[in-house]
Amino acid sequence: MKNFLLSIGLLFVTTSVYTYAIETTNLLQKTLIHYTPQEQNSRVAFAYTASVSRFYHSPKPYDTYTNNSFGRFEIEGNVFIKHDSIFADNKYYSNDYFYDEQDLLSKSPSDSLFLPQTNSALQEQIIHLSFYSPIPLLRFALKHQDEVTVESTKHLAKIEVGIEEYTILMFINRDKLLVDSLQIFYYDSYYGNIKNVLHYKHSAIETLYFPATVLHFKMNSKIIDTLQTSFVGYNIFEKSDPQRPKDFAYQSKKKTQTTLKDTILTPTMRALQFREERIQSYLLEFSNFLVILEAPLTSDIGEQIIQYAKRTYPNKPIKYVSYSHHHPHYTGGLRPFVHNGTTIVTKTENKDYLESLFTNSHSLNPDSLEFSKKIPAFITYDSTFTITDAIDSLQLLHLGIRSNHTYDYTLFYKTKEKLLLVGDLVWITNNSIVNKAGKGQKALYDFINEKAIPVKTIYQAWPVMSPKYKTIIPFVELKASAEMR
Ligand SMILES: [Zn+2]
Repeated sequence: MKNFLLSIGLLFVTTSVYTYAIETTNLLQKTLIHYTPQEQNSRVAFAYTASVSRFYHSPKPYDTYTNNSFGRFEIEGNVFIKHDSIFADNKYYSNDYFYDEQDLLSKSPSDSLFLPQTNSALQEQIIHLSFYSPIPLLRFALKHQDEVTVESTKHLAKIEVGIEEYTILMFINRDKLLVDSLQIFYYDSYYGNIKNVLHYKHSAIETLYFPATVLHFKMNSKIIDTLQTSFVGYNIFEKSDPQRPKDFAYQSKKKTQTTLKDTILTPTMRALQFREERIQSYLLEFSNFLVILEAPLTSDIGEQIIQYAKRTYPNKPIKYVSYSHHHPHYTGGLRPFVHNGTTIVTKTENKDYLESLFTNSHSLNPDSLEFSKKIPAFITYDSTFTITDAIDSLQLLHLGIRSNHTYDYTLFYKTKEKLLLVGDLVWITNNSIVNKAGKGQKALYDFINEKAIPVKTIYQAWPVMSPKYKTIIPFVELKASAEMR
């Protein structure tokens, strides 16, 4: 009797899992059909205009760079083709994309044919293409049904799909059988947890549905991209699908490990290099404490700097950390310093920006600050700040937008040794052939003269180990470049 009940129970469980799977398949298939032409082997063409923005190494934090593009895309089964024109810097650039689940082939104006180098990059195309159409994601979900999870209410189904490092929630309207929106979650090593949201507003030509307007709220809604599409027709353009180059094979994604390499520059200053990332920070020794200048890229790097300092100078706390400007190569490693109780010395104008970096969640890849949620200790300055004691003295000097790079640009001057530390401002070639200084480099020279700062040597934080540029620059070479006509 017991066994009988058990089998009834098992039968019930198996049946409901089975029904559930059937329902998911049905839902995905019926939804996909809405986006698919009735006639087989039809290639649907759409015309589109798009506005796509991104953060860049901008003069101010969170400034964006926008590309306005227009063109057409075509879809047939697993094939997605896009021809676009981008208007930028008063010129048109055109690009061709071909994607078919096995390959992505992209043709740029220089006529080169390239592929993403890794399988992961190829998989991630599904997410990029979701901006134009939900078809690639629907197909992926259908193909990987055993791995997707579904939660349904009466009118809405929430389908969770994992692609590489991304988790995607696809919301399907169960009454209309159309994809309503997507939520895309991933971890950015600089900004932390990111949530992107795509909203589809559909149109239909007879039985064929397509997103006519797409809104993409990116980077935790700090950026909004838009797409407008219109139906062009079936089988309008000639098919000439490219082929993968014969000897090409996809690589698996390599995880690069960044390690700290130290160099003693002077009796009170060390360079801490992260050669894979081509960046260095500086450790300055004072009588009772340490100062770190530049906190590159990631919490992992910041943590390595802290551990190195604790190992090498067990009796001296890291009292201050500062940075030349707000770009990731100088601020990405600041979070662990907050956890460590180190005071952040910052330009007043950047305090809000740094607070946003410190408070944004890193739960997808937790660092020390994610757990401790410590409140940062700040010292803010506008034009200068000095850290001094019996053995050394360091001045922070505001250069600002004269750097031709950022509004917050700060120089570090080590008074006793007459050393000037800059982020990425001076470009003197290794062969010491002096070239005419660019705008920022010239401004730096003028600034040093105006303030009558005696400088012997300049240290540049990026790029280290460059085959082309020096990181240790005699002042006379800056002078020669700036005075060149
Ligand atoms: Zn920079």
